[in-house]
Amino acid sequence: MSEETSAVIILFGGSGDLAQRKLYPAMFGLYKRGILAAHFAVIGTARRPWSNAHYRDIVVAAVAGDNDHDQAVAFSEHFYYQSHDVTDAEHYITLKELAATLDAKYQAAGNRLYYMAMAPAFFATIASHLKSEALLTTDGFNRLVIEKPFGHDYASAKELNDSITATFKEAQIFRIDHYLGKEMAQAIMGLRFGNPIIKALWNKDFIQDIQITLAEAVGVEERAGYYETAGALRDMVQNHVMQLVACLTMEEPTELSAAAVHKVKAEAFAALHRYTEEEAAANFVRAQYTQATIAGSDVPGYREEPGVAADSLTDTFVAGRILTDLPDLAGVPIYVRTGKRLTRKSTQVTVTFKPGAAGMFGAQPAAHLTIYIEPTQGITLELNGKQLGATNALVPQNLDFRHDKKAAQAAPEAYERLIGDALHGDQTNFNHWVELAATWRYIDVILAAWAKDDQMPTYAAGTMGPKAAFDLLQRDGHDWFWQPTRIQMAD
Ligand code: NAD
Repeated sequence: MSEETSAVIILFGGSGDLAQRKLYPAMFGLYKRGILAAHFAVIGTARRPWSNAHYRDIVVAAVAGDNDHDQAVAFSEHFYYQSHDVTDAEHYITLKELAATLDAKYQAAGNRLYYMAMAPAFFATIASHLKSEALLTTDGFNRLVIEKPFGHDYASAKELNDSITATFKEAQIFRIDHYLGKEMAQAIMGLRFGNPIIKALWNKDFIQDIQITLAEAVGVEERAGYYETAGALRDMVQNHVMQLVACLTMEEPTELSAAAVHKVKAEAFAALHRYTEEEAAANFVRAQYTQATIAGSDVPGYREEPGVAADSLTDTFVAGRILTDLPDLAGVPIYVRTGKRLTRKSTQVTVTFKPGAAGMFGAQPAAHLTIYIEPTQGITLELNGKQLGATNALVPQNLDFRHDKKAAQAAPEAYERLIGDALHGDQTNFNHWVELAATWRYIDVILAAWAKDDQMPTYAAGTMGPKAAFDLLQRDGHDWFWQPTRIQMAD
């Protein structure tokens, strides 16, 4: 969708890291595409007492490149700052008046996009003040964009959801999972449902297993305060990994609409095979990274990182074996892993097709389809082909597609795509409450299993996790396909 939208965007957390690193560049991208043009204004709110001029300088610094400084300045003139304490009702009245003034100035048609880009502890307070101080307009759209983490477990997610749905209807709520804004994550649907040959093979008769890896090379960096309360299971699996699981297992939607996509996703989440706590303990592995020397530099272990407790039981790595009860894929293991301080940064999915019985060419090894989500974007289909020369032996041969770097860079970044979708009212790539509720219920069982055990396995920084993460697959006679220390095609 590329038509211009009109709105007053009210950003809670306007001085924050997310706003400066992601949201302003994303909005600038929308501005360059003409989706934000004449009829928009942004009110940035935060605690600091900034002037509009200072705020605009911050916005320009966050977005301007070498060649677009003048355009960045013109863009920044749509930005207004209001010092705001989210707990002070008076401040919402001022905010409402400023929004009305800017609406008239920019002809924003009564449309409001409320963006919560601050600590989740404030989400409920803001939503209730938006209602009590009557900020929602009656003549345009009112939409809420809300950042993760959405809750800490099912109970807290439900409490948060109850508080925001007291002000906003589900159709007005856009819960961000920025993985759903990524090009190749969206491309999974096109690949699965746009190719009869893939559709025909996407079932338990042909698929041996599915693997999802979201590997980070960095450690906890400056985020220990948050990470200590979360860990890899909450931070990555409950949301991003689970959304990829849904994209890979769900049935074909009847059409490309938000309602149809959310329907099949809800069915996919409802069909996740529920483990008992004992089964969860056997099918999920957690671990923490320990000190190592990587490329000649000393890297601290997680417990030595600033802000981390010396006896922390926070998981920095998770591997799991997920099953679905959907008839087409029942019994096909979906192996997932994510972690910090792994060998290399990469998000990728591999579908391993069953090997064939030995035939006239001898053994027919498994074929692999890999979808590269980041940093490179593309697909590799590994098939068996005849080795060159006077032999009939089969060897794996790759059909490789990578998006051209320039084309990939020119495509809208995840946040740009998602903010554009929210402005257009398209909820397809956002989290529905039903999905969050189902995934939290699934995660809660794992958390409960782990809570009974104060052992924290470890892995050396720079490796691909603990041995137990490899044993998890070997139990089934399988192996992780992506092993960055093994020589493979570009990933
Ligand atoms: P941050 O700490 O950098 O910014 C927080 C903002 O909230 C600041 O603008 C601060 O002034 C404002 N604030 C704090 N207390 C306030 C109060 N009482 N009244 C008014 N304003 C107040 O946080 P961040 O990293 O930008 O993260 C914001 C949200 O986005 C969080 O929910 C976080 O989990 C989520 N998120 C952040 C990132 C990221 O890359 N930074 C990524 C994904 C999700």
